[in-house]
Amino acid sequence: MKTAKLEVLSNKQVSDRYWHMVVDASELQAEVKPGQFFNIRCGDEYIPLLRRPFSIYQINKHDQTLEFLYLVKGKGTQRLSLVERGESLDIFGPIGRGFKLQTGHGTILLLARGVGIATLAALAQEAAKRGIRSVAILSARSKNDLLAAEVLQGFGAGVYKVTDEEGNSDVSSVTMLMEKIMQEYEIEAAYTCGSKRLSKLLQNLTAQKQIYAEIALEENMGCAMGVCFACVCEIHDTEGSPRTVRICKEGPVFALEQVVLT
Ligand SMILES: Cc1cc2nc3c(=O)[nH]c(=O)nc-3n(C[C@H](O)[C@H](O)[C@H](O)COP(=O)(O)OP(=O)(O)OC[C@H]3O[C@@H](n4cnc5c(N)ncnc54)[C@H](O)[C@@H]3O)c2cc1C
Repeated sequence: MKTAKLEVLSNKQVSDRYWHMVVDASELQAEVKPGQFFNIRCGDEYIPLLRRPFSIYQINKHDQTLEFLYLVKGKGTQRLSLVERGESLDIFGPIGRGFKLQTGHGTILLLARGVGIATLAALAQEAAKRGIRSVAILSARSKNDLLAAEVLQGFGAGVYKVTDEEGNSDVSSVTMLMEKIMQEYEIEAAYTCGSKRLSKLLQNLTAQKQIYAEIALEENMGCAMGVCFACVCEIHDTEGSPRTVRICKEGPVFALEQVVLT
């Protein structure tokens, strides 16, 4: 894990609120895994001072490129959206523990809300490469925000879309949808990102059905090196004792059964 300057190959607005960036990763020495992230300097100016964390959205080994999908939220991401093709991006990473992909013959379930899909898309890409089928539930405010649906379908994933706009993204509707999917497919493992509400639901269902599940957690980060303790969360360790962990260092991916979701 170290800093590098990678050339931006494109940085385009893909919907009202989301941007998609492709960088040349040929200079990157480290192997990048789904679920890991980079801490990115959004501009050369003094403000925003802190780097911002972004998951890896797509890993293209053949082309030696990496892709990011990001929601323009505040100062950092607004500045990032101004970065132009040909400029270099100051990145630190890859950081953290990625997903453990089960390699049996079943299907994996992905449950993502909003920009959480940016984190799970790389996993769907890796699953497709290993011949593992994935089924995804994508939840968002509106259809406009369901950006990665086609990308996932391109990996052969079955995609179910739910939105606040259509009124089918509430917990009870998603519960029914998940029950239906679990009857239809032999779900071997489940992965989630982007919503505590949906993660709690998945935590309950996977515990009942004894399905292995993981969550990628997101929190404001400072150093992303495990030093500042800005991004802590509570987990129960394997003996069931409560423990405070750093999302940047011990995560961002954790076994879902261990995470305390408040
Ligand atoms: C592991 C991980 C992966 C992520 N992946 C993605 C992704 O793929 N796509 C995506 O869109 N988003 C992702 N996010 C969320 C993304 O990092 C935030 O949306 C982004 O940092 C917002 O920055 P901003 O300046 O635009 O917004 P703001 O809301 O303005 O920034 C956040 C605010 O919090 C402040 N802040 C940040 N860190 C701290 C801190 N440690 N202590 C105090 N204040 C702080 C900032 O200074 C800023 O004011 C991820 C987050 C994590 C933790």
